[in-house]
Amino acid sequence: MKVGFIGLGRMGAGMAANLLRAGHEVAVYNRTSSKVQALVEHGARAAARVVDACEGDAVITMLADDGAVEGVAFGGMGIVGSLGTGAIHISMSTISVALSQRLAAAHTSAGQRFVAAPVFGRPDAAAAAKLFIVTAGAAQALEACSPLFAAMGQKTVSIGDEPPAANLVKLSGNFLLATVIEALGEAMALVGKAGVDPRRYLEVLTSTLFTAPMYRTYGELIAAQRFEPASFAAPLGHKDIRLALAAAEALRVPMPFASVLHDRFLTLLAHGGEALDWSAIGHLAAKDSGQATA
Ligand code: NAP
Repeated sequence: MKVGFIGLGRMGAGMAANLLRAGHEVAVYNRTSSKVQALVEHGARAAARVVDACEGDAVITMLADDGAVEGVAFGGMGIVGSLGTGAIHISMSTISVALSQRLAAAHTSAGQRFVAAPVFGRPDAAAAAKLFIVTAGAAQALEACSPLFAAMGQKTVSIGDEPPAANLVKLSGNFLLATVIEALGEAMALVGKAGVDPRRYLEVLTSTLFTAPMYRTYGELIAAQRFEPASFAAPLGHKDIRLALAAAEALRVPMPFASVLHDRFLTLLAHGGEALDWSAIGHLAAKDSGQATA
């Protein structure tokens, strides 16, 4: 397919490279233009402006947050003003339910199609085409995008025909992941202060009842206190909890754990954690218990 790719950050760079590897014709745009070079060396066409990435069958956005997506989607030279009739905007960033609703309406009014396809998996999974992609949109649009999803992920699951539902599922998933990180951090602080070796403790957990990959991944990061370089930066984790709470507020769903996590992220950011991985909230309990070295 002929596609545009907007946003060559930690996730987007690997995803765009996988589209090229699968034989798609890809035009790449990034705010910091130097990041397009590596993709051009793999056969991409450099798009100097957003509009130049909107000439194909579809354009993918993989940007940091709502503000970034709004900035490229709206306005005269934005995606909504540039995409052809029937072309598809595939939004893969983790954005708010409200923005997804707004994008769906704007693209429909402009005679275009909109698919939400947020992802689970960190940059290593993005580079290895091992993402889990959660999609929602009109069935024909999802079908048209399926070769692109197959090139970027190991599994694609559809939630239905309303794009915001995929964004809500993604936000709920990151809320769950953050609760695991916080809970692991507290449990490891408890046993650690009593002198139990954290890696031995993780082995016990992950070889018995806690076998999901996230316990291994995040447990190891917390045990090693390896929060730099960030794979998923703490401000983006904070953003996701904020967006989950906004969705919860709109639906009148109290989520007390999400409120605690929101404060945990604020604590991390207030203490200079901007550049750390989001899993650094899992170190706060050890610090609070007086054990932390960093
Ligand atoms: P990242 O490395 O920080 O990259 C962010 C991208 O957005 C860069 O291309 C950046 O451009 C661009 N950007 C930021 N603000 C912008 C603005 N105002 N206008 C235009 N472009 C802007 O982030 P990431 O880790 O790739 O994450 C991208 C999205 O995927 C986020 O929504 C995140 O929540 C989600 N996600 C991340 C992970 C993960 O593990 N990292 C996993 C699943 C989902 P510059 O290069 O110019 O800064």
